[in-house]
Amino acid sequence: MPGSADGAVRTVGILGGGQLARMLALAGIPWGLRFVFVSPRPDECAFELGRGVVADWASIEANPGLAEEVDVVTWEFENISLRAVQRLQDCVRVFPSTKSLAVKQDRLREKEVFSRLGIPTARFLPLERLEDAVRAAGDLGLPLVVKTRSQGYDGKGQTIVRERAELEALLSGGGHLMAEEFVAFDREISIVAVRTSDGACRFYPVVENIHRDGILRVSRCRPADPRWGEACEYVQRLAEHFAYTGVLAVEFFEKDGRLLANEFAPRVHNTGHWTIEGAETSQFENHLRAVAGWEPGSTEPVAFAAMVNCIGKLPAPQDVARIPGAHLHIYGKAIRPQRKVGHVTVRADSPAALEQSLRQVGKLLGEPVEPAAGAS
Ligand code: AMP
Repeated sequence: MPGSADGAVRTVGILGGGQLARMLALAGIPWGLRFVFVSPRPDECAFELGRGVVADWASIEANPGLAEEVDVVTWEFENISLRAVQRLQDCVRVFPSTKSLAVKQDRLREKEVFSRLGIPTARFLPLERLEDAVRAAGDLGLPLVVKTRSQGYDGKGQTIVRERAELEALLSGGGHLMAEEFVAFDREISIVAVRTSDGACRFYPVVENIHRDGILRVSRCRPADPRWGEACEYVQRLAEHFAYTGVLAVEFFEKDGRLLANEFAPRVHNTGHWTIEGAETSQFENHLRAVAGWEPGSTEPVAFAAMVNCIGKLPAPQDVARIPGAHLHIYGKAIRPQRKVGHVTVRADSPAALEQSLRQVGKLLGEPVEPAAGAS
């Protein structure tokens, strides 16, 4: 295998060049790491932090030359070619496991794996043929949520179906879809963990999340949340199943005190962005430490912390600078409606001070920051 002769990790290849790749580089550069980003798009915001290689996945499959110039490969999002990743794996270390990527690329398999591991989910069924519509409406009830099995993110590829006729119309030409029971959840939470290749796991606190239109708006770190132990157990089960190395996130619905896993992310995750200023070691640094084979850092929060996404617009830096404990992260992406273009992390000494700063961030963004639901 190529890479440095002593096996040390100095150059990291990242598949994808968006904000997650950029924040990985921002965490890794102080540790002396260099980065090569690969993306089919020429305008990626991570490219200014390393070498950007513009290539489609088919060309990586045909020629995994990237492996010659990096010591390890990881990815920042899951809509990449599994075959390209497998080809790279023949030539260089690749983390996390390709098994986690393969499962993540199919929402039905993702839910099946949760079930097999005893991790509760909302009830679900595959939707392929017209007959499946009848069964789904009967077994799961209406309304239900129909999701594409692949390529969905930030609420894309999913729709709430309220009538059977609507469901039948969706399936009239066949489909590669799945149906899920609609969950009138009390709140949404997530857990971010980091696992080393020798199996040691560390967990960040539970994060409570607010989505609107399928897009994450606000994440609040919840130290001492009553669901933390259960969430840790589930994410660890999944990580062990995948023989996982790196950062892994799982999102849950909470309903009447029960957790239902909605999805996992085999990568750093938007609900972990608060860790940049809010934890002893950020999720980005910990992912790199794990894939480089270094000891992960502490996942302890250093303050009360939260994160607000900037969607389709950015506040002026000088205005954010006036808010106590607020830190602005601009991704350097073109601004478009419904696009994540930055985030603000807020840190405070007390929950009340945190909420006060969050309200000010909301005002700047022209979108009030919704209050937390709180644990049941
Ligand atoms: P997903 O694309 O699965 O991450 O879903 C994005 C968001 O849509 C979730 O965070 C929820 O707010 C909502 N959602 C997804 N699935 C369901 C469901 N079965 N019931 C209710 N809301 C859902």
